[in-house]
Amino acid sequence: MSPPPVESQVQVLTDLYNSIQNARHFPRDLLKTATVSNALPLTSPSLSLYSQQLKDIAQNLRSDAVQTALRAAQDSAKADGKNITNNVRRENRKRRRPPSPESPQPYTATEQQSSSLFSSSKDDVAPLKSQELIEYIRQFNKEHSSCKLGIWQATRSSSKDLKNPAILRFSIKDVLTTYLTVSYTADDPTLSVESVTAFGPRERKLPHSQSEYSVYRTLSQEFGRMIHSDPQVGLQRFMTLLCSYENMFTMRCEKCQRVLCAEGHVAAVQRVWNENKEYWEARHVSC
Ligand SMILES: [Zn+2]
Repeated sequence: MSPPPVESQVQVLTDLYNSIQNARHFPRDLLKTATVSNALPLTSPSLSLYSQQLKDIAQNLRSDAVQTALRAAQDSAKADGKNITNNVRRENRKRRRPPSPESPQPYTATEQQSSSLFSSSKDDVAPLKSQELIEYIRQFNKEHSSCKLGIWQATRSSSKDLKNPAILRFSIKDVLTTYLTVSYTADDPTLSVESVTAFGPRERKLPHSQSEYSVYRTLSQEFGRMIHSDPQVGLQRFMTLLCSYENMFTMRCEKCQRVLCAEGHVAAVQRVWNENKEYWEARHVSC
């Protein structure tokens, strides 16, 4: 099916624009609550009229005609958006009105536009579920000779049940020890990594304390930053990051090409996922 002609797409967007501009004059309280709830206590006939118009705009915005036109406009702007000036915004600035919100964008699938700092590789394995953890640990230890993964327990306990959250201990010989807090919900047994702390390989510390060494404290902060970018990050994806620290003290920074940064003599503890080469690049935090 060929797309509708440009003229009719422009008309569809112009109509939408005009109806939104018109809605700006609606009572402020109605606009605020309309985005939160459809069940409005409507006190007067005129309010219900406004409310119906808002619903019509929302429906129109979701319609195929508008979505197709928005998508075409976005593609066109991407291809060559150099000479497009946004007169609407300029006009607003002149009138000293508060900045208007971004113009409507076509809906995009949820997997796009992620702020995650982890790999977005399509052939990712299915996220690990709590009941699969023991087998995963067994397999992981078989495949990694210099690393070790296990379940950490504060006291010797004979209970075979996995605690929620559970604390895992991951260590790389002579490089580091980390504690990972992983959890799942009653509705969804998928494990996600909540927090990770790093310590020196011979430090005897509790998971929720912090290292005596600044390099491991910086590393813990980096892990926090990574998790913050993707709060639902699964265990397997996080493990690829952890394994990239095997040569933590000998890897060169991709920016300055030094092992230790010029100031502070700290190793390159930051990791940036290289989508093209599919590996974790090392960086100094200060680079
Ligand atoms: Zn550097």
